[in-house]
Amino acid sequence: MKAVKKIPLAGPVLNGNERKYVLDCIDTGWISANGKYVNEFESTFAEFCGVKHAISCANGTVALHLPLLAYGIEPGDEIIIPSFTYIATANAIKYCGAQPVLVDSEENTWNMDPNKIEEKITPRTKGIIVVHLYGHPVDMDPIMEIAKKHNLFVIEDAAEAHGAKYKGKVVGSIGDVGTFSFFGNKIISTGEGGMITTNDSELAAKMKLLRGQGMDPNKRYWFNVVGYNYRMTNLQAAVGLGQLENIRWHLDQRRRVANAYIEKLSPYANLLELQPEMAWAKHSYWMVSILLSENVKAERDEIMQSLEDDGIETRPLFYPMHHLPPYYEERVYPVADRVSARGFNIPTNATLTDEDIEYICNRVIYHCSNNI
Ligand SMILES: *Cc1c(COP(=O)(O)O)cnc(C)c1O
Repeated sequence: MKAVKKIPLAGPVLNGNERKYVLDCIDTGWISANGKYVNEFESTFAEFCGVKHAISCANGTVALHLPLLAYGIEPGDEIIIPSFTYIATANAIKYCGAQPVLVDSEENTWNMDPNKIEEKITPRTKGIIVVHLYGHPVDMDPIMEIAKKHNLFVIEDAAEAHGAKYKGKVVGSIGDVGTFSFFGNKIISTGEGGMITTNDSELAAKMKLLRGQGMDPNKRYWFNVVGYNYRMTNLQAAVGLGQLENIRWHLDQRRRVANAYIEKLSPYANLLELQPEMAWAKHSYWMVSILLSENVKAERDEIMQSLEDDGIETRPLFYPMHHLPPYYEERVYPVADRVSARGFNIPTNATLTDEDIEYICNRVIYHCSNNI
């Protein structure tokens, strides 16, 4: 076995003021959930998204739970989501005792198909959660139209899509609420962390209340409701602010990496497809994704194993919710089924060199061509 350099799939790059700000927290003792970095991270994030309110929280999963709680979602309610997503989207609905209702993806973006939403709406439907998958924005206009017609709220799960744009608008500013994750492998990170964006001041106040155990903002240690401790710490926000100050650089690096992959891999349409970037979209390239064509006879997992042996870390695309035990359905969602069975993510991080990308593409093409 020859020694090979390991190329990781993802990883944070902390090359701005993160260290300085964290040391400031330690030097001043402001390490818990109050402090100037929490406020500054929130206001800078709100500005970045062009919204009135940004509310930090413990992670991207509770960033979904809080707006559902604020909307009063309870057992018997239904929320529409794409089947093809990360499980947190569905789990946040389950935490409220409500039911996620699954919709298939569309062929071009792999995001939730707006044409398949209305058939899933019932008198119990309260809202829609869209997911900007792998950084590609959802086609929002038809979804906002459906939501308006049926009086539903729209939450954008933008955990993977910081800075992505739909028709020039930053995601997280288009629906009623946007939610973000700052997990270690996301576009910018705080280790663990999340953010909620909204222009709805009443909803923002409810979410802030619920985030802090429900303590009455006008009467300390008075609680009218059962709340949660879903706060972000000043330490996490210090890292987040350092990351956010450099977000242009992070996004530019991802685009550089994605463009290099597109240039080298798109001539091989007989072997694979890439998640496309629609004319109306600005992809944020959280993870570059490959879909093996039917010409490739090997299973997806065999190709991934060969790449692993070459020192290239990959990751399968998400299993659709209807395949997983908590959300299992017998039926077929053809697009989600096809994409998830044949797709995987290739390394997408800001520090990949041109040589790394060249090597990865050569190995992908080699293994695919050997299996036709
Ligand atoms: C990462 C992610 C989340 C959850 O974020 P955490 O910070 O890990 O809780 C939610 N939705 C999607 C689509 C994600 O990719």
